[in-house]
Amino acid sequence: MPYVVGIDLGTTNSLVAYMDGKTPRAIPDENGQVALSSIVAFFQEGLSEAVLVGEAAKERLVTHPEETVYSVKRFMGKGQEDLEADLKHLPFVFAGKEKEGIQIQIGEKTYSPPEISAHILRALKARAEKFLKTTVTQAVITVPAYFNDSQRQATKDAGKLAGLEVLRILNEPTAASLAYGLQKEKEGIIAVYDLGGGTFDISILKIKNGIFQVLSTNGDTHLGGDDFDRKLVNLICDEILKTHDVDIQTFPEVLQKARLVSEKVKCGLSSEDSVEIVLTLPDQKTQYKRQITRTEFEGLIQGLIARTIDSCRQALSDAKLEPSDVKEVVLVGGSIRVPLIKERVGDLFQREPHSELNPDEVVALGAAVQAQILSGAITDMLLLDVTPLSLGIEIMGGVVSRLIQRNAPIPTTAKETYSTQVDGQRSVSIHVVQGERELVADCRSLAKFNLTGVEPMPAGMPRIEVTFLIDANGILNVTAKDLRSGKETTVEVTPTYGLSDEDAEKMISTSMENAKADLEKRQLIESKNEAETVLRHTEKALVQGASLLDDAERTNIENAISDLKNAMSSGTHRELREKLSALDQATQRFAADLMSQSVQEALQNKKLSDL
Ligand code: AMP
Repeated sequence: MPYVVGIDLGTTNSLVAYMDGKTPRAIPDENGQVALSSIVAFFQEGLSEAVLVGEAAKERLVTHPEETVYSVKRFMGKGQEDLEADLKHLPFVFAGKEKEGIQIQIGEKTYSPPEISAHILRALKARAEKFLKTTVTQAVITVPAYFNDSQRQATKDAGKLAGLEVLRILNEPTAASLAYGLQKEKEGIIAVYDLGGGTFDISILKIKNGIFQVLSTNGDTHLGGDDFDRKLVNLICDEILKTHDVDIQTFPEVLQKARLVSEKVKCGLSSEDSVEIVLTLPDQKTQYKRQITRTEFEGLIQGLIARTIDSCRQALSDAKLEPSDVKEVVLVGGSIRVPLIKERVGDLFQREPHSELNPDEVVALGAAVQAQILSGAITDMLLLDVTPLSLGIEIMGGVVSRLIQRNAPIPTTAKETYSTQVDGQRSVSIHVVQGERELVADCRSLAKFNLTGVEPMPAGMPRIEVTFLIDANGILNVTAKDLRSGKETTVEVTPTYGLSDEDAEKMISTSMENAKADLEKRQLIESKNEAETVLRHTEKALVQGASLLDDAERTNIENAISDLKNAMSSGTHRELREKLSALDQATQRFAADLMSQSVQEALQNKKLSDL
């Protein structure tokens, strides 16, 4: 069975995990390290561009800060205006405001956050392939519960760029619960407190008969261990300015060094009562040295921790619960090693929090568990969330195109663009469905409506934008719009209407049992759809471009067509992909000639119209 890996794409560190039988394990690199620093360094090697990821890139943070990107997760799916507050802290430059998303300028080139994250994912994919001695093409990637659609989409894009099919974007707290196997609890409320390098999440989950339901989430996408480091960096900067009259903020290399030193000091203080801070000043001679105690450090960060505790209170109140209702507390993320955190969280919930599993690995381990569920090997672990079931529309071949994933925190919105299947189509029928199965026939039908007034064009040309919006009350608005004519139609449905908890649970459990078979069916239908489109175009082209083909080439293409048709009636998904690629090969030269012929014709027409 091919491995589906679980990936924790973290702000500070990223990990990849797999299932070793029934046990999830993080995959180490050749040095036995499981955490890969989420740092990407670019540089020129001769004429070509080279990229380093992880520890090697971390070293270049000090020597080449302008070409080294860290915490890229903060920029995923963001626009320039979202990040104004952060820009002054960052040594790397952002490309112009006119761009839609953030672009990071490295030398002459600009990169989008998904492109940079893709380097991290590629490194993890390569690590997994080396360790598992097989190619890895599918993954489950985790994101903070707070990620909105564009951030989730950016994460998916990064996966795609790295050559990974992202089977599911999974909320980090949900992954952590899976890693702890808390589905074995009969019933109870669980709080997952996740403080990583850059983000904080608190999720209040309800567990009943192996089913997780997220009652509420809260948190801060700008709060984490990096901020603890920053408090120490600020202390160092202030003291150096006072005692040595040097502003190290104007020396990027020294500032980066201060960051690294601060992180080390912080980690040291998790086990020691006192640690020495040592930093060489820009003159390369003088050393700034001082001892810092844990108590002094706790004084610096207590305000930040208090903010996380306030979030926990808010999440509890949103779920209409008291701290004493919480049966278990799970701590996740590297920063929970700071002893004051365990203490404060313990005080709030009046119980000792769980931290038995390695807090750095928990999320990746849970992602591996989810990956195994999707590959069909585990069927007894279920997840339920505020959006109890996924929502989507029917597309060609009776397949579901999912717009909103189950477990999405509401309110939420999602948008996809579709096209027509038949030339000259003037109306499009939209069938809204609910459920986890890949085929419409296995899902619950919620609504059907027609979008009329579509501008008639050849199949595949119109752009029909479908928007799903679930408001805070769980009401789903579906809008279909022809982007060319501007015509649009909206319907409103209540997805949970007439749906009991038992129904939802049953639908999910059946989907888990059938996940693998469904995925195979879906892949087969999708390949068939693609094959139909390719055949339609090729057969049209054979007529239009008949004069461009000699007998041998025509026979070659006709054979490839006939092989593809045979595979469509009896083949597997893999066989179809092979035959599609064979037909693509056979038609390559012909397609190029056809293209240049149409370009010449277009030019000729232009000349005629110029006359
Ligand atoms: P994560 O995003 O979950 O990988 O967490 C990374 C954060 O955990 C970084 O800010 C690290 O500095 C922090 N961290 C790792 N080990 C420790 C430790 N022993 N004490 C305090 N913070 C730590």
